[in-house]
Amino acid sequence: MHCGGRIQRMFEPQSIEQLTSLISELDDFFVLGGGTNTIFCDDTCTRPVIRLGSGFDLIGIDKTGLRAGGATAIKTLLSYCRENALSGIEFLSGIPGTIGGALWMNAGTRDLGIMERVSDIDLADRTGVHTLKVSDIHYGYRNGGIPDDAIITSAHLKLDSSSKQQVSQSMERYMEKRSNQPRGYSSGSVFKNPTGHSAGMLIEKAGLKGYRVGGASVSDIHANFIINDGTASTSDIRGLIGTVKQRIKDQFGIDLIEEVRIID
Ligand SMILES: Cc1cc2nc3c(=O)[nH]c(=O)nc-3n(C[C@H](O)[C@H](O)[C@H](O)COP(=O)(O)OP(=O)(O)OC[C@H]3O[C@@H](n4cnc5c(N)ncnc54)[C@H](O)[C@@H]3O)c2cc1C
Repeated sequence: MHCGGRIQRMFEPQSIEQLTSLISELDDFFVLGGGTNTIFCDDTCTRPVIRLGSGFDLIGIDKTGLRAGGATAIKTLLSYCRENALSGIEFLSGIPGTIGGALWMNAGTRDLGIMERVSDIDLADRTGVHTLKVSDIHYGYRNGGIPDDAIITSAHLKLDSSSKQQVSQSMERYMEKRSNQPRGYSSGSVFKNPTGHSAGMLIEKAGLKGYRVGGASVSDIHANFIINDGTASTSDIRGLIGTVKQRIKDQFGIDLIEEVRIID
C-alpha cells in the first residue's frame, strides 16, 4: 500500500534452526510475507517482525508431491507449475505475495482458495516444528485457519498432471479476468465479501466510489479497492475504512470485515 512508518526490529532467519531459536526468545512477533495484504501503522512498529529468508524460498518434489517454501513467491510457483505442466492452482494467477501469506489468507478467488490444493503444512512455533494435515485445519473463505503464533515454513500441494499448453491457457484466462482491476498502490480487496453479497457492490451502491480521505480513495473502477495516490498515510486509509464500514452498516445493516491486516 506504500504507507506506514518504520519497523523497529526486523529478523530474517535463513533456516529452521535460526527460526526456532529466534521465536523461542521473542514474547511476541508478526510474520511478514510479501506485505501485499499488510499495512503498517504510521508510527514506528515496535512489534518484532519476522520475514522468512531465502532458505525458505524453495520448490521441490519429494515422496508426498510438490513442496513449496513459505517465502516462495506465488508467481515463482506458478511459473514452475506452467513449466512442469502441473495444474490446480492457476486461479492464483495475478495474486501477488508469498506462499506463506497465501496459505494464511487462504488466498484465491471468491469460490476457490489455495487450501483446497494443499495436503499438509509445515509450521514452526515456540514449541518446535510440526506438520499439520489440511484435513485437521478449519479453514474458510480468506482464512487459512493457521494458529496466530505459528509460522508457515513450507507446504505440500496437491496438483494434477496436465499439458503446458492447458496450464498456460488456464492461467491466461485468470489473468484476463484481472485485466480490468485498478492499478496503483493498493492491497487488493480491502473487505471480505459478506455471505451472499459482494463488498464492492455494496460500497458502490452506497455511492462511495471515488470517496476520499487525504491521499486514500475508494477506486472508481472497483469499489472494494482503496488506492493510495502516493501521499496517503495509514491514518487516511484507516479513516476511509471506518467511513465505508459505517456507511454500509447504516445503509444495509451489514458489518464489513477487513481482509487487509493493519499492524500497530
Ligand atoms: C493488486 C492485488 C490483488 C490481489 N488479489 C487478491 C485475490 O484475488 N485473492 C486473494 O486472496 N488475495 C488477493 N490479494 C491480497 C494478497 O496478495 C494475498 O492475500 C496474498 O496471499 C498475501 O500474501 P503476502 O505474502 O503478501 O502476505 P502478507 O501481506 O505479508 O501477510 C498476510 C498475512 O499472512 C501472514 N503470513 C505471511 N507469511 C506467513 C508465514 N510464512 N507464516 C504465517 N503467517 C504468514 C501475515 O502475518 C499476515 O497476517 C491481492 C493483493 C493485491 C495488492
